[in-house]
Amino acid sequence: MKLYRKSFNIFAYFEEIMGLYKLAIVGRANVGKSYLFNTICKKKISIVHEREGVTRDRIYGKAIFSNNYFTAIDTAGLEANSNFSLIDEISIQTQIAIEEADVLVMVVDAKVGITTLDHIVAKNLLKTKKRVVLAVNKVDNEKLKDKVFEFKKLGLSEIIDISAAQNLNINELLELAFQDFTFDESTDIDEQNKTKIAIVGRTNVGKSTLLNALLNEQRAVVSDTISTTRDSIDCDIEIRGKTYTFIDTAGIRKKSKEKDLIEKFSHSLTLKSIERADICLLVLDAQDLMTFQDKKILQVIEKHSKGCIIIVNKWDKIKDVRQEHFLKMLNQSKLYFPALIISAIKKLNLNKIYSLIDQIKKNKERTIQTSHLNKFIEKCIQKYHPPMIFGKRLKIYYLTQIKNNPPYFLFFVNYPNIFTPTYKKYLINSFRKNFDFEGSPIIFGIKKKPQSSL
Ligand code: GDP
Repeated sequence: MKLYRKSFNIFAYFEEIMGLYKLAIVGRANVGKSYLFNTICKKKISIVHEREGVTRDRIYGKAIFSNNYFTAIDTAGLEANSNFSLIDEISIQTQIAIEEADVLVMVVDAKVGITTLDHIVAKNLLKTKKRVVLAVNKVDNEKLKDKVFEFKKLGLSEIIDISAAQNLNINELLELAFQDFTFDESTDIDEQNKTKIAIVGRTNVGKSTLLNALLNEQRAVVSDTISTTRDSIDCDIEIRGKTYTFIDTAGIRKKSKEKDLIEKFSHSLTLKSIERADICLLVLDAQDLMTFQDKKILQVIEKHSKGCIIIVNKWDKIKDVRQEHFLKMLNQSKLYFPALIISAIKKLNLNKIYSLIDQIKKNKERTIQTSHLNKFIEKCIQKYHPPMIFGKRLKIYYLTQIKNNPPYFLFFVNYPNIFTPTYKKYLINSFRKNFDFEGSPIIFGIKKKPQSSL
């Protein structure tokens, strides 16, 4: 089963891709956020000695509530950044959490009582329309329970006492947090662990032949997964203990004229396959290089932020051209998707598809520490200064990754409207060169740095 979000906002699109609800844990330092994160994710608690001034980042963990996966986010890391005041940091931390998460858990310390920073966090959270639950932590005896009422002053209506260290009331906290969330019964946890692959491309490029060749491979264990809600038959291919689910919404396994007809008249089937996939195999006919129609499909894949491999099929028909020259002709340098030359009929290079899929999956799930991102930004700024428009100079304060799968990075700047497309392009191209994300989409957003407020 999977938890799906109910309301819509601009981040819903990315949530849909990610598919899971996100619960962010926010609050000032030392209230026990990391303990709570570890308890929720059922991780062994490790005491981390941090060097002063070293930025630890947000940590994402997969957790289960009532047989559903969700993503828990520990925002503790932002506290250690020495470039900002405590108030600035807490504002940025809550701002990111508000944007990223579906539900927020603010943690306070029953033993210490309300502090000024608690007021700042609560004030920021009260501005959001998202669900916020106040977890009064460290309540490990009855006496401390009386202290909980004191925290009503923060203005948050949903309050619960917990002890993260002693695992008290944690399930009740999650129940409260996910109270109004809807459940989708159609997918289960196993389903979410599979890598879903769509084979897409023009008619007659060899999609059917490719899928059937993969299914007929001797080392593959194949099973059909009939998706009752989606009106399609997918097939699972198990290789070396990993399951790859090939989506067959467009009926490409059928070797018939009927299939060609369906394909010709239904772009929406291709679109559906792309929407459901983690990674798309865009099949080209080597004899045609990349056609206008192929580029159109590639744009759809990019628009939906999916991973992609360009599969150049029918290599057996190409004579007297070396593979490297061919790939150059494909204008590889401009593409961030890897290209693989194959022949579905001759079964050439088919096994390389799986290792590329694994690599892209890894890239999509990568998280880069803010400290590394900021070093990178500094270098870029030194090389080419940000633009100055109408007497205002663009300042980039911070670049941070707010989610993965697909990776999503946010620039915090002084004036988003003077972040010119040319400068953004320069930064994105440098980013691709600096951090290897081959095959994975990357999303970049721009945000005005929040004002510190009391
Ligand atoms: P689809 O419409 O993309 O599913 O394409 P099909 O798989 O039906 O293939 C279209 C035609 O191309 C068929 O006649 C295949 O036999 C042929 N074909 C597919 N792959 C290859 C290949 O690697 N080499 C050659 N020479 N022909 C191929």
